[in-house]
Amino acid sequence: MTDEIMLTTCPRDCYDACGIEVSLRDGAIRRVRGDLHHPVSRGRLCRKCATAYNGVLLDPRARLLTPLRRDGPKGSGRFTPVSWDEALDEIARRLTAVAERPGAHTILSAHYTGTFALLGYHFPNRFLRRLGAREVDPDTICNKAGHVALEYLYGTSLDGFDPRTAADAACILVWGANPSATAPHQHEHWLPEAPGRVIVVDSVRTPTARQADLHLQPFPGSDAALAFAIAHVIRRDGLLDGGLLAGHAIGWEELEPHLERCTPGWGERVTGVPAAAIEQAARWYGTGPSLLWIGQGFQRQPRGGNAVRAVAQLAALSGNLGRPGTGFLYLNGAGNRMLDEDYVAGAHLPGSPPDPISHMDLAGCLEDPQRSRALLCWNINIAASNPDQARLRRALARTDLFTVAIDLFETDTTDLADVVLPAASFLESDDLVASYFHLSLGAQVKVIEPLGQSLPNTEIFRRLAAATGLDDPGLQEPDEQVIAEVLRRTGLGIDFASLARQGTIWVHPEPRVQFPGLRFPTPSGKIELASGRAEADGHPRVPHPHADPRPADGRLRLLTPASPWLLNDSFANETRLARRIGPATIAVHPADAAERGLAPGDRARARSSAGELELTVALSQDLPRGVAFAPKGRWPRLEAEHANVNVLNPGTASDMGASTTVHGVEITLARVPSG
Ligand code: SF4
Repeated sequence: MTDEIMLTTCPRDCYDACGIEVSLRDGAIRRVRGDLHHPVSRGRLCRKCATAYNGVLLDPRARLLTPLRRDGPKGSGRFTPVSWDEALDEIARRLTAVAERPGAHTILSAHYTGTFALLGYHFPNRFLRRLGAREVDPDTICNKAGHVALEYLYGTSLDGFDPRTAADAACILVWGANPSATAPHQHEHWLPEAPGRVIVVDSVRTPTARQADLHLQPFPGSDAALAFAIAHVIRRDGLLDGGLLAGHAIGWEELEPHLERCTPGWGERVTGVPAAAIEQAARWYGTGPSLLWIGQGFQRQPRGGNAVRAVAQLAALSGNLGRPGTGFLYLNGAGNRMLDEDYVAGAHLPGSPPDPISHMDLAGCLEDPQRSRALLCWNINIAASNPDQARLRRALARTDLFTVAIDLFETDTTDLADVVLPAASFLESDDLVASYFHLSLGAQVKVIEPLGQSLPNTEIFRRLAAATGLDDPGLQEPDEQVIAEVLRRTGLGIDFASLARQGTIWVHPEPRVQFPGLRFPTPSGKIELASGRAEADGHPRVPHPHADPRPADGRLRLLTPASPWLLNDSFANETRLARRIGPATIAVHPADAAERGLAPGDRARARSSAGELELTVALSQDLPRGVAFAPKGRWPRLEAEHANVNVLNPGTASDMGASTTVHGVEITLARVPSG
């Protein structure tokens, strides 16, 4: 008997957007694997998805199969299965009551990238917008500081280089990204196959840094200073693009004086990167043509917005813009595939939602009954992912806060909900996927029926709209109609059936040049090295060569980046991955461990201003002195202390965008006596 093969696309929060091949027999999934013919996945998924997509995602014992209503104290995990009608009636009754008094502005909508597919991510906002709920600005948990910084400088953060132009680049500078964990196919294929030299800037000697031609390892929080030292060499060595600065940028005369003192020797003292390496990086990058991949790690710092402005301006100073083999990439937004996200999110529908709040303010907002009476969590597990974890959990336990959590699995957040709704997986609905790296468009194809009574986000929110009596036809638009309209608006002349047959298409037949004609969507139409908008928002007009002070009094700077085995907060409940990862660890440099009397395998207690957590000690020569490293993504409900590393994060907001500063946390680390 031969298997039926269906193609689909991975919709996770990941640069790669792999093509997937699903084998079915008698309508049941036999295997989910990478599409051999897909130019990114080349037959292999990452190890986390290869495991989870063939494991927990298909396991009816692990998945939520029916709506649940709480029948014990909040957080007790005691729920009773109820019908969809019962669940929707209760949600509608409670939300309607809150909307009447004290008002819909006290209904919060928290969401992020549990799925990054177009409809699954955006369509629920139609209902929430119409309801008048207050959104928790999704990017503030991740990358908002970088978005704001790039908006000031170039007028956009969502129009990156076309990765295919790497063939024309003499140098690729990867700054603050770790593709070996977060873009595995770029680590395995794209970077090694690029003809140019690769420079990696990362505080950790990651596998990607190890395979680079040059690795610069600044102390966390000193990226802006390092960028200025590189800019100093570019200017000193005649690598400035005077024509571009004169004709297509404003503010060079304000910026230039700040470069004077930022010599390579100064850079070495401030950042820890050897002066010779700074000189080398400046020459390779400045000579070009060069690409600049601006990662999201280094902007999760107290001055992260300033750091992104400082790094991103290197492309302008050296003229690495507007021609093949040049440009920068933060994210490639769906807009440069002509996908109309605003339409999917319902911007055309009536409604004027209140101003959003930041995820950094969520715990404070949720503990205040004047500001919050109801909460809808979808595509996110805030009790695991958010800062100020202990305070947030206490706030979520408020009996007068009505919480609805939508998920595929029981999570820390569903544990604290009043009503839980079961979501379908990406294998159970049609959708569209736009990689935020490659300029591709993929079909997410319904391969099987949703497990149990689970439903796609779109159908859940259509039912919520109907139950609450919101009767705008736009709230009931079926998926196939939304998808057809989105594809029609692209002007690509492709329908969903054709896209599904192909799996993924490259929207632009030839590699696209970023900023052709050197026109920029800023108010001036030029690169704004000095920004009046930044100044109006209370920031300096030009970025500064800032470096955070080093931790004092025996403290360590804590980095909690992505694990190669987990995807943000997805998959921690996959037992094979959990076995592979083992207990929660904290790695430090051997000299830092020796100073504290720590040996590998010891238990140690990390303490910050926000909380404390016991972890298993590991040693790593890949870290600078003064830095501790504990990957994120574990679920508190599966940990002994019912907490993960986010319990250490006080939730301080960044300089721009009120965004996370999770890599700016300082801790002490002390051995826990055994026995
Ligand atoms: S998470 Fe990324 S690397 Fe893994 S399968 Fe999905 S797209 Fe591919």
